[in-house]
Amino acid sequence: MQDFHVHSNYSDGSFLRGMVRAAESAGLEGLGFADHCNVGARERMAEMRRAYGFNLDLTYERRRQAIDRLRADTSLDLYDAVEMDYHPADEGEIRSFLASAGFDYAIGSVHQVDGTNVQVASQFVDRLPAERDRIVETYYDRLVSLVESELFDIAAHVDLLERTTPLRGRATDEQYHRVADAFARSRTIPEINAGRALTDEEIVHPETQFFEILREHDVPFTLGTDAHRPFEVENRAEFLAEFVERYDLEPTVPPALEE
Ligand SMILES: [Zn+2]
Ligand SMILES: [Zn+2]
Repeated sequence: MQDFHVHSNYSDGSFLRGMVRAAESAGLEGLGFADHCNVGARERMAEMRRAYGFNLDLTYERRRQAIDRLRADTSLDLYDAVEMDYHPADEGEIRSFLASAGFDYAIGSVHQVDGTNVQVASQFVDRLPAERDRIVETYYDRLVSLVESELFDIAAHVDLLERTTPLRGRATDEQYHRVADAFARSRTIPEINAGRALTDEEIVHPETQFFEILREHDVPFTLGTDAHRPFEVENRAEFLAEFVERYDLEPTVPPALEE
């Protein structure tokens, strides 16, 4: 089993070496570092870079050297990957950055709608139901654009807003089918993401109904713990192993690793 989505101290996670050691003790065969990266020229994106202070677009070469050194010291396959913030307005910047950086593979994520992170419940509690529905609809529009852009190997945590109580349970089958149709036509594949697995109702992204619709469309999946800390790699990898067994899944690898 390989985990294609973890973070390190090159964004908001723990030191590379500790993550590798945790993956070894979890019995994984491969580990992909997919640190957060946004290259959007829009003011909101530049402001996020200033506020958070991590900028994989500036540090990926240093991280690459560190990953290379760790390769000499482990039997795991280590991957030098990225989790890019996606917005249709940023496609040009994302395309040229990915072409010049040459990662092993790229993950794309919709984290924001209208400049607001969909994981922050407090931003949505005061919104009226119709407004919440519009946010959900916009989120899935963005996700379809991400898949159709063909910029990425993997689309991360495809129903991220299910983590957020005021937005949870509002998505429609029509939205899920629209996303599944887009995946069926694209090289981009979704992941089974364990980011909410052990804190939130013991389920994965995508939740059950969405997962079944994706399976009806014969869409393959990669696995990602989305771990930011070593203990999360171990706990979530075990959770994913049980999930794979329960649904008799055959997880795949990012398309770029097969090409
Ligand atoms: Zn993410
Ligand atoms: Zn992540």
